[in-house]
Amino acid sequence: MTQPNALEILKQYWGYDSFRGHQKAIIDSVLNGNDTIGLLPTGGGKSICYQIPGLIFPGLTMVISPLIALMEDQHNGLIKRDIKSFHFKGSYSPRSLDEAFRNLRYGNYKFAFFAPERIANPLFLEYIKHAHVSLLAIDEAHCISQWGFDFRPSYLNVRILRELRPEIPVLALTASATARVKRDLHTQLNIPEAQLFEGSIRRDNLHLQLKFTPNKERQLLRLLPTLLGTGIIYAKTRKSCEVLSALLTKHGHSSCFFHAGLSGDLKSLNQSMWIENKVKVMVATTAFGMGIDKGDVGWVIHWDAPDTLEGYYQEIGRAGRNGSTSLTYLLYHQYDIARLQKTLSEVPNIAAVEEFYRSFCSKHQIAVGTGDQLKVQFSIVSLAEKFKLSIPTLLTYIRLLQHRGLWQFIESDRSVPKFSITSSIDTWDRLTLEDRELLTTLARTYPNATHTAHRIDLKRFAAMMHFTIDHFKDKLGELTQRGLIAFESEQSGSAVLFMQPRPSNKSLTFPKNFIDAWLSSKVERTTSMLKFLHSSDCLVQQIETYFDQGKSEPCGACSSCIHNYYPDQEKVKEMVSNGLSLDDIWFDLNCSPDELRF
Ligand SMILES: [Zn+2]
Repeated sequence: MTQPNALEILKQYWGYDSFRGHQKAIIDSVLNGNDTIGLLPTGGGKSICYQIPGLIFPGLTMVISPLIALMEDQHNGLIKRDIKSFHFKGSYSPRSLDEAFRNLRYGNYKFAFFAPERIANPLFLEYIKHAHVSLLAIDEAHCISQWGFDFRPSYLNVRILRELRPEIPVLALTASATARVKRDLHTQLNIPEAQLFEGSIRRDNLHLQLKFTPNKERQLLRLLPTLLGTGIIYAKTRKSCEVLSALLTKHGHSSCFFHAGLSGDLKSLNQSMWIENKVKVMVATTAFGMGIDKGDVGWVIHWDAPDTLEGYYQEIGRAGRNGSTSLTYLLYHQYDIARLQKTLSEVPNIAAVEEFYRSFCSKHQIAVGTGDQLKVQFSIVSLAEKFKLSIPTLLTYIRLLQHRGLWQFIESDRSVPKFSITSSIDTWDRLTLEDRELLTTLARTYPNATHTAHRIDLKRFAAMMHFTIDHFKDKLGELTQRGLIAFESEQSGSAVLFMQPRPSNKSLTFPKNFIDAWLSSKVERTTSMLKFLHSSDCLVQQIETYFDQGKSEPCGACSSCIHNYYPDQEKVKEMVSNGLSLDDIWFDLNCSPDELRF
């Protein structure tokens, strides 16, 4: 009975004629009322797995998701299809929360999105206790595991929902996961009997190449002309993105770069040039590519060895989405190995992390007990300067604090400048003439901006007021501090979103077992990456083993599978006489240096 329904809905709302991979099995399991775990590789159509049952079930589907941007995308996708969806974002007073619940109760909503931190709110729990909820969908469910890529302690709260409403089926969705993370999905979510469906992570059209070379620059320049279509080069630092892009341009390869330190304008310009195939190469840090739907990425090169196999797998996965054969190259040399080995022994200084958090809060005037849902934007470079930290150390601190659940790090925040008027006109009499004039002009130009955030054209407005942009922004910041307006400046690189009020100094602690788990999961991931660089086994099989995918055949196409043992001596001699260096030869012939004979 359920099958035609699900298919009809797929056709009606998404326009597809059939399901892909395990989608159908997952949907059926959910429709039968089972707790279900779906592990689908990136791009495997995860969201449809909860959206279709959600449309069939009579009640509301509550979707827990860790990332604001991700929720926003899915929520907007539903709205676009004329499906009623609600997204809890920003901070709510008890009154506005009550209003939201009333809306949900009587508004025929099919979906409600919220971050796991909301579960800590007793009003929320009270609502859920009595609400007509048919399904609890947990997106990026791996965040519940300490062994996962990005643990979010607030995910542990999901158990509370489970205890509160044990009759509501749970659907946990995530990309591929290691054995440990899979175990955690069952135990931490308290769904021991859940049916598990797991898609294969193997993609036959990706041909993985792992290449050792002492001279990356030379090999990159030799490689590029052979690669067809547009592609991405991933580099670890912002600096190397810029330097590499300049090098490529100098050698006649059209290229641009992308990292979190760029201005919003340059970011979108570079991104669209590349998306429209106007430049061949995008040199980017790992922040790039998430949420970009470009099917014809022909190749991906890693200029530096990635820190983890999760990251590596995600990044190469951006190639060949349209099914065409795509090459991926990981270039590494002894410095990559040395860097990874060094991180094995690095232990963060927790007292320094705590001190950083405290002074970050003080500098941004966030008092103990306040700040929940507050977004603070900054440029990583100037923040590092301000706190006299190196950028990698600063990033580690920020991520550790995220891991602890204090905030969410948004590496590349893409908001437009927005403001709203939060004071009433009759309080403006006692202000200076300049302030009054500014506020009145704002109110006149943006009549809808009272209490709702409104996009503001800073350039135009500053010109209108005869201000420089910087002075205008300072002014808006100052008025915000005084509670007259709420101004959110445009994306200035990165941001943190506070996920809970600032704790008192005493309760701002990192328990020892927390640090131990964090360290040992880091060591585990780094060790796996090092092993990957050293092993001569099929690369695809190694990744499959890492993600606990069971026994499989070698891929037959990766650099390990097609390794050329002891290449033909005549051929080697010919290459030498053609002026190729030994590095070129073992790079091209896909063999080890010690296998070359003359
Ligand atoms: Zn292979």
